[in-house]
Amino acid sequence: ATASEPYDVVVIGGGQWAHSPGGYVAAIKAAQLGLRVSMSLLWLGSQTKPCSQTACVEKRGSLGGTCLNVGCIPSKAMLNNSHIYHQTQHDLKRRGIDVTGVSLNLENMLAAKDNAVSGLTKGIEFLFKQNKVDYIKGAASFVSPTKITVDLLDGGKSEVETKNFVIATGSEVTPFPGGSIQIDEQQIVSSTGALALQKVPEKLVVIGGGIIGLEMGSVWSRLGSEVTVVEFLGGIGGAGIDEEVAKQFQRLLTKQGLKFKLNTKVLSAEKQDGKVHLKAESAKGGKEETLEANVVLVAIGRRPYVEGLNLAAAGVELDNRGRIIIDDQFNTSTKNIKCIGDVTFGPMLAHKAEEEGIAAVEYIKSGHGHVNYNAIPSVVYTHPEVAWVGKTEQELKAEGVQFNVGKFNFSANSRAKTNLDSEGFVKIIAEKETDKVLGVHIIGGSLAVKRMEISDLGLPLGPNAGEMIGEGVLAIEYGASAEDIARTSHAHPTLSEAFKEAAMAAYSKAIHM
Ligand code: FAD
Ligand code: NAD
Repeated sequence: ATASEPYDVVVIGGGQWAHSPGGYVAAIKAAQLGLRVSMSLLWLGSQTKPCSQTACVEKRGSLGGTCLNVGCIPSKAMLNNSHIYHQTQHDLKRRGIDVTGVSLNLENMLAAKDNAVSGLTKGIEFLFKQNKVDYIKGAASFVSPTKITVDLLDGGKSEVETKNFVIATGSEVTPFPGGSIQIDEQQIVSSTGALALQKVPEKLVVIGGGIIGLEMGSVWSRLGSEVTVVEFLGGIGGAGIDEEVAKQFQRLLTKQGLKFKLNTKVLSAEKQDGKVHLKAESAKGGKEETLEANVVLVAIGRRPYVEGLNLAAAGVELDNRGRIIIDDQFNTSTKNIKCIGDVTFGPMLAHKAEEEGIAAVEYIKSGHGHVNYNAIPSVVYTHPEVAWVGKTEQELKAEGVQFNVGKFNFSANSRAKTNLDSEGFVKIIAEKETDKVLGVHIIGGSLAVKRMEISDLGLPLGPNAGEMIGEGVLAIEYGASAEDIARTSHAHPTLSEAFKEAAMAAYSKAIHM
């Protein structure tokens, strides 16, 4: 079926956007701005309804893309429930709660994750109806800068014409270089397989100590696996993490039972006798070693996804890392085609794609849009959570910027004490001359103890760095000074007082430390 007249905007790709980021948000915003929108989503689906206000294409047959189907949402379900299991086993006694007979029902834990995903998927279907977004099940491919064909899931093809496109096709797992490790999603898994293991592996080796490696490594460690994380670099946490935070983070995870091999490069993996044998060497070369695992998680990054899009027909160019090239108004090399999210520059984060989706559509409608890349937060949803926004100390030093650092430990925060949390801190970095906040780094407090000691000492609830970072994002977005935050009343007793005290320390002195 073909729309009788061209749309104003067609969004190609809607994995993530279908829950929050990129394409879906772009489509709804475009509809709200009165633009006629077609959304072309690989995984969304239904029949083409010509002439309705909005539409999308999706080949998976369920809404939500990477984030909802195999990313943010299922991983957070597993992180939350594995934490509750772990805490119930090891932490309740010291809080005065005696529980016996705690055991893992992995099947039910996986089902709870699947229910969360399917519930949210239905929510999106509702949002689609509410915003009058049609969607077409199938994969989009450019015919010209103003036309795509869609290979429909139900068979056949559909042509869609538009004045403007927004490409939001996302990313895929980076394959291991040289093909020396093949993902089978059973024994050698990507994050997708790691979200659906049917049995707790005795030994799990994680290749890559970035966000996925640490989040999924934590899940399976809590459920009973012996987890070793092999990381090429000298520190964990991936790009953008503050070095001081990364060191403390590694210490806490080590105490929880995760093992780390830093400065180590995995070379290959071979399946033999039901096990996986990995070869690794020192990142600087030489010294080879062999590791053995029941399951291996490959988490060495993600890369932009443009397969089947036929970008050449639209004149859209890629850079040497396979990212779609855009200018600061999200324009690709073809004037009427914009691009957002993982498939282009910047951090691969759902909320970044979402901001860009809204801004791109606003540019189409009014010529104005806004994304502040200095104010995009990062959160690692481990326990404790780690969160940051803005610049790190090491970045500012490299830029030659003079700054003050204010740090406040949760050990001196009354709420953290009552929650039986003792480690972790808030760090605020402010420009020396102006006191303007340039960076905020939080590692949630955690009474991290060795696994064998856990039953005596317990595990903490942990300050929620992922929620707390919102205040830092707002401060940076509004150009606040550390003094502005320090002079703002924060409720007592809350963990957020640690935020205020860190700001006090940045411009003057903290009260409680
Ligand atoms: P995607 O969500 O990847 O969506 C792209 C969509 O385009 C897909 O549905 C794809 O099927 C579709 N598509 C591709 N080609 C075509 C085509 N030719 N025709 C039609 N449709 C097409 N980010 C966070 O911010 N917080 C988190 O907690 C978090 N956790 C994550 C956990 C995991 C395990 C993973 C893998 C990722 C996580 N991310 C997280 C990253 C987040 O999922 C991505 O940054 C986000 O999904 C990017 O959104 P997007 O709209 O750019 O692309
Ligand atoms: P990443 O880039 O964060 O980390 C990959 C790590 O693997 C790096 O530290 C790298 O040095 C290491 N590495 C690469 N090759 C290696 C080798 N041969 N041997 C050992 N180590 C090696 O990538 P990721 O963890 O796969 O995550 C992908 C993307 O998904 C990230 O961009 C992240 O933003 C996003 N994500 C976000 C969240 C979140 O926001 N909470 C959660 C999951 C994923």
